[in-house]
Amino acid sequence: FQYQEKRKAVDLSHHLSDLSRARATSPLKGLARYFGRPDLISLAGGMPNEAYFPFAAISGDALVPDSFSIADSQSESSLSWLWKLFGSRKEKTTSVTIPKYPANKDDITLKVALQYGTATGLPQLQKFINELVEKIYQPAYLDWTILVQTGNTDGWSRAVTTLCNPGEAFITEDWTYPSALAGTAPYGIHPVGVLMDDQGMRSDELRKLLAEWDEGARGCKRPHVMYTVPVGQNPTGVTMGLERKREIYDICVEYDVIIVEDDPYYFLQMGSYAAKLDPVSQAMHADPESWLSSLAPSYLKYVIDYQGRVIRLDTFSKTIAPGARLGFFTCNPRFAERLERAGEVSTQAPCGFGQSLVAQLLTTWKYDGYVRWLQGLAVQYKSRRDFLLDALREEFDMQMSIGTTSSWKGCTVYTASSKPRAGSTRMLEKRAYGSKALFSLVPPTSGMFVWLKMHFENVPGFQPDEEPSTMELKLFVKLAEAGVLIGPGRYFSSDEDNASPVDGHFRIAFSYASEEDFTKAVKIFGEVMREFFKE
Ligand code: PLP
Repeated sequence: FQYQEKRKAVDLSHHLSDLSRARATSPLKGLARYFGRPDLISLAGGMPNEAYFPFAAISGDALVPDSFSIADSQSESSLSWLWKLFGSRKEKTTSVTIPKYPANKDDITLKVALQYGTATGLPQLQKFINELVEKIYQPAYLDWTILVQTGNTDGWSRAVTTLCNPGEAFITEDWTYPSALAGTAPYGIHPVGVLMDDQGMRSDELRKLLAEWDEGARGCKRPHVMYTVPVGQNPTGVTMGLERKREIYDICVEYDVIIVEDDPYYFLQMGSYAAKLDPVSQAMHADPESWLSSLAPSYLKYVIDYQGRVIRLDTFSKTIAPGARLGFFTCNPRFAERLERAGEVSTQAPCGFGQSLVAQLLTTWKYDGYVRWLQGLAVQYKSRRDFLLDALREEFDMQMSIGTTSSWKGCTVYTASSKPRAGSTRMLEKRAYGSKALFSLVPPTSGMFVWLKMHFENVPGFQPDEEPSTMELKLFVKLAEAGVLIGPGRYFSSDEDNASPVDGHFRIAFSYASEEDFTKAVKIFGEVMREFFKE
């Protein structure tokens, strides 16, 4: 790659949908450009006077940025580490207040935050987001533009209707986030899955799909939009590195495809499981800048999206709280303008309470504080992942099968063996179900999920024509009745017909439960699984 001088984004407006082209500026919102003038007497907008806002000020106690340790816990067992997280630790807090009226010119105020405004949101929040994007994602072109939205679900919904007409198809990973599919289905915009491996979407499969697209057979033109979750992918947990992203990007340039990068788990990159020399695992205990530079880059980065063909979706759902309903787009200015038009006639700006509280928190913490917070979160999620995987290994005496590739799209897996521990009562069970694999998994390096591939072919009496989803459902019900809820794989399929005849899948989230619940759940899971595979 030759480092090129940064240019403006290329004009990709031929990708806009009919709906998006037809949007005019909301007439009243068009007046907003005059609002900043100090001498202006506005009698135009239907704004309530701020004296009638019942909130005189809002304030809250927020945790300090270094609330969660980034110390290297690898010398301890992950078990004892996690106990500390839930102990009766006294939380250190800092107070955040938003007054109705400003004491200083740049203050965030309720007068502004709770008033009607433009769909671009609070200027102080925009400033913070711009700094974040510039420093962390380092976009490759000059005129990248950010725009607030109300979380990535809203972001994708706005992006897809801005780009796709009814009847079109979009490209996505073979397994993907169900709300992204449910949101497009009523518009008649349907997904086309691309096979995955341990880095996510495969570039050779993508090229094949695009090169061999047969409009007649497929019933629609070649897709020009891709929806992808490249880090801690939901549901498979896999993460795509720089090289693969460049391969995919180059194919998208060749076939003129816009990439919508939905990246809620970007800051939950935690490195390999049980690999002490892994660079990400090591950097997460180092200074914040080393940690940030160890992370897989965004598609926006200066070595990738030089044309401005990526719409990146960021959300504060996993880094602050889902209830904030706050996130942002980063994309070329033409797309940002159309997305803004779509925003101003739907959600308008995100809720003023959420915006002002998050903006005040971030400007109090400052960029360095927020990065430190994110780093602490990554260490937390690493502990959680390690705890769950340790518990599964313990329960199933799992062996690491390094160097073998599973039939699950070329990934190295852990295979559940039925090897009994010395003196274990499982000796009897071993006779009952032999030493067949029950499930495989790829330890995730980011995100919140472990993805299990079930070996239903090893269930005694298994009929080859039995649908994996039927088996999935049977096991799901047994687990639920025993008190453990996990996500059936079928929910995440981009294509009802693409499931292999013998494989079923489950998604387990390690983001929420306490260590006691994990321990209980894994025990129940073990009991139900052994019973199921013995039947
Ligand atoms: N996109 C993906 C891939 C997700 O996994 C999730 C949450 O689970 C979301 C979007 C939802 O994000 P938000 O809360 O910002 O709408």
